[in-house]
Amino acid sequence: MSLALIQVRVFNASYEELSPTTLANAIKLVAVQGRAEVIEADEEQLMLTAKGEPFLIPKVIRMLEMLRVPFVYSDEYFSKHGVLKRDKHTCGYCGKAATTHDHILPKSRGGLDTWENSISACLKCNQKKADRTPEEANMPILYAPDKWVPQRIYFRSDKPRRRKKTK
Ligand SMILES: [Zn+2]
Repeated sequence: MSLALIQVRVFNASYEELSPTTLANAIKLVAVQGRAEVIEADEEQLMLTAKGEPFLIPKVIRMLEMLRVPFVYSDEYFSKHGVLKRDKHTCGYCGKAATTHDHILPKSRGGLDTWENSISACLKCNQKKADRTPEEANMPILYAPDKWVPQRIYFRSDKPRRRKKTK
């Protein structure tokens, strides 16, 4: 997985969740500016700093200072359950009731766990499509999930000290 694609979850000093940020920005906040701490790191992946020291890739960071963010829109975190909800439990291939999650570009071919690469599917269609793209399987998608990344909104009402965009 490309490091550039990694998103890091960000919490405010008060532990409210903010918008996720890029890995590069998270590392800058923690290691360069000292404005955030790592709450959770990916134990399975190591990076090397410029000095060649191993460095765990942060997954969740927390700001050490309170950021004022009145409200923030950001993409909802991806979940397979969320895909079913988004698609109203409707199979993207046959329109019947869906109970499973399908990677449009199969995972075995590099497809990612993202909203854009996900569609709800009934078990039958999921098994039929298997490790193929919709084109290869001749199973066109009935609707376009790439247009729909669910959004979430955060509200903030804390005492302002500094305003910052985390994106
Ligand atoms: Zn189906």
